[in-house]
Amino acid sequence: MTDIMDQYGDRISPEPNSGCWLWTGAITSKPKPYALVKMRGKTYRMNGVIKKLLGLQGDVMRHKCGVTICVNPQHLAAGTQRDNMQDMTQEQRSERVRKANAAKTPEQKSASAHKTWATRRRHV
Ligand SMILES: [Zn+2]
Repeated sequence: MTDIMDQYGDRISPEPNSGCWLWTGAITSKPKPYALVKMRGKTYRMNGVIKKLLGLQGDVMRHKCGVTICVNPQHLAAGTQRDNMQDMTQEQRSERVRKANAAKTPEQKSASAHKTWATRRRHV
């Protein structure tokens, strides 16, 4: 696990709140941002590199934290393509719920947006 920090630490920005290791190196642009790393002239996805380093079995690597550029091995789990589809479905479902709630209460939405803005201003 420390291997990843040793080898790629210069491209990792740890997020203290979420514990995510955010990748600051090259990333894919479609369909979602994923961390990329170049090795011996070839480009690999960090997900696959981490999977190999940890010796995990599975078709795909899943981000338990939902942050696709996170490379913290503790936030990753090997899974099947089907697991991955279920993750995506859940994400879409929660996105729909979020949008539906936002549509229901425009006043609350603008109030909370203002609050966020005010909170941010205070910290600047
Ligand atoms: Zn994470």
